[in-house]
Amino acid sequence: MKYDLHLHSTASDGSLTPTELVKLCKSCDLSVMALTDHDNVSGIKEGLEEAKRQGIEFIPGVELSAKYQGELHILGLGIDWQSKELHDFLNLQQERREVRSKKLLDKLQQAGIAIEEKDVRTGTQEISSRTHFAIALVKLGIVKDVDEAFKRYLNIGARCYVPREKASLESCVEVIKATGGMAVWAHPYKMGLPDYQMEALGQRLKELGVKGLEAYYPRNGVNAARKMVALAERLDMVPTYGSDFHSKDRGIPGREFYEFDIPENIYRIIKEFNLTK
Ligand code: AMP
Ligand code: MN
Ligand code: MN
Ligand code: MN
Repeated sequence: MKYDLHLHSTASDGSLTPTELVKLCKSCDLSVMALTDHDNVSGIKEGLEEAKRQGIEFIPGVELSAKYQGELHILGLGIDWQSKELHDFLNLQQERREVRSKKLLDKLQQAGIAIEEKDVRTGTQEISSRTHFAIALVKLGIVKDVDEAFKRYLNIGARCYVPREKASLESCVEVIKATGGMAVWAHPYKMGLPDYQMEALGQRLKELGVKGLEAYYPRNGVNAARKMVALAERLDMVPTYGSDFHSKDRGIPGREFYEFDIPENIYRIIKEFNLTK
């Protein structure tokens, strides 16, 4: 059985609409998919409806950015996506993104780049993300690809980096739990922390009520997955799989680790936590 618990759509910084994404997941032979846009649930309704048409099990989800040194992302799976508490929380995250976007636009202009607000708003997106800036910089011919845009202008330490205020880790986990979701530590290996710090953070997350750890993350490769599965075992967390799909030029949903048997028992857990809607 194939599943993918980490996918983005145009509701955040993905390139496919929720409908297109569900169709792609179906064509990739997935049985279960979770839509987890950044700080946003506006794609869920459309995704759910298309999933029903396509006959694929659908988990409403979200990926929250929490405050922790650089970036710490927490997935909320099986959330009550219509809850007021969640919407209030997401509205605040969105306001902070807007503040960052204005500053980032200024900074790019000050660096001599002729970029305007209309270049970063495609009209369909609900959130403003650095990805939208990266795509605009490519379209304007300033850089050759998205990767170069991040390296030269948008990454921490790059010329025009602007930080964004984020919610506390506690409040992210709390809002997921309060709206009936399962909290999962997204792509831990990608954080690049030394082992002792990873272990300590894992303990802290465990105490807060985070149940899963995204151990299988294709971009980080097999050795990382092995390490993360061991970490999940030590922490007594569920190791999950997520491709973090954004667009077709950066992988496909449900890409498998052929070297591993991705645990079938995940499906049991998905059912136990009542994640599909
Ligand atoms: P934000 O959440 O607005 O700060 O933007 C971060 C987003 O940028 C992440 O969700 C990634 O999808 C994307 N991103 C970061 N680095 C890169 C990169 N080197 N290439 C492509 N996308 C990236
Ligand atoms: Mn993204
Ligand atoms: Mn992430
Ligand atoms: Mn993601």
